[in-house]
Amino acid sequence: MQQVLLYFWYAPSGAEDPKALGLQQRNLCQALGIAEGRIRVSSEGINATVCGSQEGIRQYVATMHDFFEEKGTQPPVDFKTSAGVSGAFEGLVIRECAELVTLFAHNTILREKVLFHTPYLSKAITHASPEKFHEILKSGKATVVDVRNGYESSIGTMRNSVIPNTRQFSDFVSFAEKWVPTCDKATIAMFCTGGVRCERAAALVANLQRETPGKEIVILQGGVARYLEAFPEGGEFMGKLLVFDGRGAIAPEKAQATDIIGHCSLCAAAWDEYGHGEEKTRCSKCRQLVLVCAECQKSAEKKSYICQQCGPSKRERE
Ligand SMILES: [Zn+2]
Ligand SMILES: [Zn+2]
Repeated sequence: MQQVLLYFWYAPSGAEDPKALGLQQRNLCQALGIAEGRIRVSSEGINATVCGSQEGIRQYVATMHDFFEEKGTQPPVDFKTSAGVSGAFEGLVIRECAELVTLFAHNTILREKVLFHTPYLSKAITHASPEKFHEILKSGKATVVDVRNGYESSIGTMRNSVIPNTRQFSDFVSFAEKWVPTCDKATIAMFCTGGVRCERAAALVANLQRETPGKEIVILQGGVARYLEAFPEGGEFMGKLLVFDGRGAIAPEKAQATDIIGHCSLCAAAWDEYGHGEEKTRCSKCRQLVLVCAECQKSAEKKSYICQQCGPSKRERE
């Protein structure tokens, strides 16, 4: 049986050698027969999804666990494993990148300012367990923000979340610049799929409110993925969680079958599937995922769909 392993590691130094990390990953995967996955290495650390045999993954985790411990990583790296199928990744790709998740893109000045001049990982940011995060949501004392992209939020999100509706993670910067000054609750509670995006998004938010500090920033440790393990009936999460390991969208284990929060972009019927592989429903202009129900897919001409951003505004101009 194949297993999928997912984890990220932000190096405490923030100054690793990406080439060395890349080589380490290639050698380790080769030695353990792990031939599928996507691994990003950068001076920040590692962000990986790999698929291999149960024994291969077990040995991989043991090796990396020791490596991260030696580096003085706190809190310890969270290794998430799940059953998987081979063929989902089309081989093993190891990429050297500037960031583990692209938030600042080419804005290196802002990146330096945020990462080196923010009380990062200090009192400004708290990591909350799923149970603790649930309590915070229930208390109503926090502004809850879904750090993920619009196409992820539109099929599932936490109750009463602020939805930035970004196309890509780097759009979160301009959203946060406008939004942070308007937050009026004592706590800002942030969540994403597995936690990797929140680390950087929270550092940005902390930096943006440095003039008027006082708000507590809480991030959901392990993301919605870990939250749904703690709350298999869904808890405060409604709908499905889009994941990037070939499984598509996953529903909470004990969710109601009727719990669909997405809508077909053409007829507004309840719908929360983007399709699979090559058959995914995408905007024909910008390739963004769009929700199109089975009925509308049948009737659409040449399966050509237009997303909200490319569609209405363009039509209005013409
Ligand atoms: Zn439809
Ligand atoms: Zn589009």
